[in-house]
Amino acid sequence: MMDGEEARQERRRAATWVPGAIIVGAGPSGLAAAACLAARGVPATVLEMADSLASTWRHRTYDRLTLHLPKRFCELPLLPFPEAYPSYPSKDQFVAYMESYAAASGVAPRFGARVEVAAFDAAAGAWVVRLAGGELLMARWLVVATGENAVPRKPELFSGGAARFGGPVVHTYEYKSGEEFAGKKVLVVGCGNSGMEVSLDLCRHGAKPSMVVRNTVHVLPREMFGLSTFGIAMALLKVFSVQVVDRILLTAARLTLGDTGKLGLRRPKTGPIELKNLTGRTPVLDVGTLGHIKTGKIKVVGAVKEVTPRGVRFADGKEEQFDAIILATGYRSNVPSWLKDGGDVFTSEGMPKIAFPNGWRGKNGLYTVGFSQRGLLGASSDALNIARDIHCQWKDMSRPANSDALQSDNTV
Ligand SMILES: Cc1cc2nc3c(=O)[nH]c(=O)nc-3n(C[C@H](O)[C@H](O)[C@H](O)COP(=O)(O)OP(=O)(O)OC[C@H]3O[C@@H](n4cnc5c(N)ncnc54)[C@H](O)[C@@H]3O)c2cc1C
Repeated sequence: MMDGEEARQERRRAATWVPGAIIVGAGPSGLAAAACLAARGVPATVLEMADSLASTWRHRTYDRLTLHLPKRFCELPLLPFPEAYPSYPSKDQFVAYMESYAAASGVAPRFGARVEVAAFDAAAGAWVVRLAGGELLMARWLVVATGENAVPRKPELFSGGAARFGGPVVHTYEYKSGEEFAGKKVLVVGCGNSGMEVSLDLCRHGAKPSMVVRNTVHVLPREMFGLSTFGIAMALLKVFSVQVVDRILLTAARLTLGDTGKLGLRRPKTGPIELKNLTGRTPVLDVGTLGHIKTGKIKVVGAVKEVTPRGVRFADGKEEQFDAIILATGYRSNVPSWLKDGGDVFTSEGMPKIAFPNGWRGKNGLYTVGFSQRGLLGASSDALNIARDIHCQWKDMSRPANSDALQSDNTV
């Protein structure tokens, strides 16, 4: 957006004032924030660049995906999952839940609305949002809900060097199923939950995956003694310190999974929950991948040094041929590309500056939901806090304090 007072005045004149909050993103986080606001009688305009809600789940995930955590830890405020759903709902079930969630809360996002810039106009005491196409909207509160997984991370080695590789190079956001890789040798780069699950899926479709493990990784069983590991950890944390809980989890993991180091999956020195709290690195919850590593159906390989026309050269100098490369290398936030004036809450990478549970509120009516690296549980907590906070202000004020500064009569 143009700078300078004259330009700002022009923007105010051209902008359409929307009551309540503007929420950017109609994934689970944006919908949760909108639903919690609606429950308190605060209106919100939800802007979504895709053509449907929960587009990340609908369009950018593999067919076999189920929730990683049991449903009771993934439901959004105000509406539980249907009882008939299994403990780990499929991606289609999760999308259906999102659809009914929006319908039940009366939340109707505006689709095809990509926010290109959002900036705070101090004179107006409001946020000005410019959509692709040039339309300007203005609101007292701005809720950032564009997600931690907005932009696929593609390491330079594979995005640049891959031009030399003759086969397909696919990021997990494009990967649907192992069917098209049947009988092929596939290099899976990354050993987080996605890398592990894609390797397993490839195996089940008759492909021959090799999984690159560069760093240490904590693998835990998804369930222990018939209970979810996540649930056990949450319960233990109410009583014991993080370090004690980590020791309990690692002992149980060793009993159920054996020594993962022997499979090439060395554990970090710091325990899984402490590491998550310190760095955001999520432990992998094993859904059967380790069994396939043990039987040799999935090969664990070391760091890649170079991409070659027919495969890769590893750090130890050995070269190996592959038919395809799948990048399970994660995602990053897109916030820095469109949000101005968010420096008090977001780092230059578009991640929160303030640790959970306090990173949801910034200055000047700016809020963030779903950036705490704590999945849907974290998003729910943010959404409830945001709705409570905005509602307190809404009660006294449904126009900005100095709305006279707004020279626009446009209101939707
Ligand atoms: C494979 C996978 C499995 C996961 N499983 C679990 C799980 O089991 N349990 C759990 O708690 N968490 C899980 N997570 C983590 C997290 O809960 C999900 O990623 C969840 O979708 C995050 O919701 P969100 O609304 O914050 O982001 P998203 O779902 O990514 O939604 C963000 C929305 O913002 C839109 N958007 C982005 N930029 C703009 C813009 N400039 N203008 C307008 N719209 C924009 C996008 O199109 C998107 O629809 C998983 C994540 C992944 C990747």
